[in-house]
Amino acid sequence: MEGRVYLVGAGPGSPDLLTLRAAELLQQADVILYDQLVPVRILDWANPQAERICVGDLPGKHAEKASQIQQRMVAAARQGKRVLRLKGGDPLVFGRGGEEIAALRAAGVPYEVVPGVTAALAAGAYLEIPLTHRHFASALAFVTGHEAPDKAEPPINWRALAQFPGTLAIYMGLCRLPQIVAALLEHGLSPDTPAAVVSRASWGDQRCVFARLADLDQARRQAGLESPAVILIGPAVGQRTPQPWSEQRPLFGQSVLVTRPRHQAAGLIRRLEQLGAIVHHWPAVAIREPEDFSELDAALDALAQGRWDWLVFTSVNGVHGLLRRLWHKGGDLRTLSKVQLAAIGPKTADALHEYHLRADLVPEQTFSSEGLAAALGPRVAGQRVLLARADRGRELLREELLRSAAEVRQVTVYRQTDDEPPSPQLLQALRQGNIRWITLTSSNIARRVLAFCDSPIRQRIRQGEIGLVAISPETGSVVRAAGLPVAAEAEVYTEEGLIAALIDCVRKHRGIPADSPKAVPTEPKVENAPKEEE
Ligand code: SAH
Repeated sequence: MEGRVYLVGAGPGSPDLLTLRAAELLQQADVILYDQLVPVRILDWANPQAERICVGDLPGKHAEKASQIQQRMVAAARQGKRVLRLKGGDPLVFGRGGEEIAALRAAGVPYEVVPGVTAALAAGAYLEIPLTHRHFASALAFVTGHEAPDKAEPPINWRALAQFPGTLAIYMGLCRLPQIVAALLEHGLSPDTPAAVVSRASWGDQRCVFARLADLDQARRQAGLESPAVILIGPAVGQRTPQPWSEQRPLFGQSVLVTRPRHQAAGLIRRLEQLGAIVHHWPAVAIREPEDFSELDAALDALAQGRWDWLVFTSVNGVHGLLRRLWHKGGDLRTLSKVQLAAIGPKTADALHEYHLRADLVPEQTFSSEGLAAALGPRVAGQRVLLARADRGRELLREELLRSAAEVRQVTVYRQTDDEPPSPQLLQALRQGNIRWITLTSSNIARRVLAFCDSPIRQRIRQGEIGLVAISPETGSVVRAAGLPVAAEAEVYTEEGLIAALIDCVRKHRGIPADSPKAVPTEPKVENAPKEEE
């Protein structure tokens, strides 16, 4: 296959602003050379097998790095690889994309360019600052605030910019802000001109200050805004909305640790990000296949022969585990034609639906072992029940069903094991109070998380500086048994229920009355839909 280089803009930070083409190319790439400004979160979209190189880690200074990047792109493309050159924002706005294109042309390597949302446009959209305006700004200028020390670039004409009939969007200007303001004032721009500094536009920790031009540097210092930031100057900036939508989101600025297994976390992370949270992920447990399939294979054969009246699923993982094995063994849905199916909750029922299987029974309200036992008990009198479950699960369902069923047996469909321990950085962030909430989506996850909570972390949990949010009372009871408080507990034992509990808790902390209308936008079903249990 012919190799090719894709020069792609990753947008300003939030994965929401990746283009469809960028997401597609991330999945297809063999090699990804990404700028330091590209958030690692974006790389979650990448093909897991792709070689990933952060160009900031390449040796040498700017010019040497640039030539190494070019050499690597060309060499990989010549080996027939799909090379993704991923840049923050747009590749051709202060991204040196032009130089890289020139190098590719010179080498005769085929390439494609994919634009990205540039920082100034994200700042406008997320802070509701019009960048052009029929009455206030008829032009928009992208300006670099960083004059190259080697002066290879032409000096900035501040006189012309002071007279510019619109909005100035100044990139890389934060450390030279006093000089920039002075230059514009000196050339006649009014000290009262509306201005803003927007830091980390579109990220969960986006910050912004507004001030008249003459006060802008002081305002940004007081607020402690850091790079990356764009400076917006011009009369249209004064037409901003005081409470922009992005900061009205119910979890805006809240840092949340998600502890779901790797392959199941995507949906929850996306949802929290879209609600404005800063999301960290540590998969506390992992879902794996059983070490030995003989027990499951025997159960599948028995199902085919009509040995069981009911097959009961207590998690999405259980559904996928059993049906994957069934297919692998050469069977199909007909194997399950003689058995009734029960699901612990709507998400497990949805997983069955993916295989065109309809659950004969789903509890109506309580999506837990207790709820399932109560709903199923009367239906299985004198019948034979097979429970598809994890290797480490609760015994309650089996014990309860034994009261009425003729026979109850359990078969291990998947294993739940501990994943890697949390990174030292994550533990440090918890100790220092940089993570506000920890979501606990199952009892086993709660146990594993608690095992890593040393005394500084426990202290913060006790003082309410870190809130533990449990998906169910059962999960919450693990926390309470460890002598720690539960900040919020889901009323409906699903991921959506957990998010609703978290939002309520945040509102209470912010002093918003619980009975005011809920600011939780309803969301269509996401991929990796919520599960009742891990
Ligand atoms: N190609 C990029 C710009 C790279 S230059 C683009 O199109 O956006 C780096 C500068 O971009 C930073 O110094 C800062 O001024 C700006 N920047 C990048 N991401 C930003 C963000 N999320 N919020 C505010 N400014 C950002």
